Amino acid sequence: MVKGTPSFGKMNNGWTHIRCPRCGRHAYNPVKGYCAACGWGGRSKRIRRYSWQNKKVNKVRVR
Ligand SMILES: [Zn+2]
Repeated sequence: MVKGTPSFGKMNNGWTHIRCPRCGRHAYNPVKGYCAACGWGGRSKRIRRYSWQNKKVNKVRVR
């Protein structure tokens, strides 16, 4: 077991995020049960967005 640079080669095994049903981005985390990009699932029904970001969901700008 090494902790340094050689083990970073294993970091792309498996996946954390799958394609999100709502925003279509590859950002839905099935373990946590929500999408990192739009917050779909669990966290809120509203789309995750912040004032500092210009977000597009389904290629439509969300304000
Ligand atoms: Zn999403």
